[in-house]
Amino acid sequence: MRFNKPAYPTVHFSEEIWVNCPKCSEPALVKTELPKYTLPFPRGHKSICSCSHCGFQETNESNWSGFVQGFINRACGNCGSGISYTTEPTKEPYETSEITCDVCKATREYEIKWYRYRNDKPTDPYFGFDLFLQTSIKDNVLWLYNIDHLDYLKEYVEAKLREDDVRHKYSMITNLPQWVKSSKNREVIVKKVNKLRHELEKKTLHNNT
Ligand SMILES: [Zn+2]
Ligand SMILES: [Zn+2]
Repeated sequence: MRFNKPAYPTVHFSEEIWVNCPKCSEPALVKTELPKYTLPFPRGHKSICSCSHCGFQETNESNWSGFVQGFINRACGNCGSGISYTTEPTKEPYETSEITCDVCKATREYEIKWYRYRNDKPTDPYFGFDLFLQTSIKDNVLWLYNIDHLDYLKEYVEAKLREDDVRHKYSMITNLPQWVKSSKNREVIVKKVNKLRHELEKKTLHNNT
């Protein structure tokens, strides 16, 4: 079997994203009207998250619930050399960090600036809610936005022949971690993905619009 679907970027699948409703934990849907240009990230789009179970709605993307990443970029308070520091992505930002200057070795406390972190985390890129379609495989998390995304990945994982030559840097497949691409995980991934699809269908079948 050959995988020869177009090299979609992950954002291609982001028009409908299943998340855990932040109020009732049932599956809620984040719908987004994507603008014409979406790479590296869509601008001027409108997203709405709604839960048909409890009626929760969110339209304000400044209420970010996802991961943030902190940066310190400034001059050393002692010698003036450039200091550059990046934190791990976290959901619990803090105000300052102690940094030791590479040049003069002085350790001081500096303020951290935090920015939304949308990459490679199992959250939706618009509000930062936790994705419904996520499952752990060994020490890793496999996450998907919706059923189309799931089928696309599954077809890729099941394929014995993969045409990788036409992919680009934003292609979802290009950016998949190696453990997803490895044929030795094929069976477990397909099994888990089928289970996820079943769980979502079970929860949404009766109130799907
Ligand atoms: Zn809800
Ligand atoms: Zn210094």
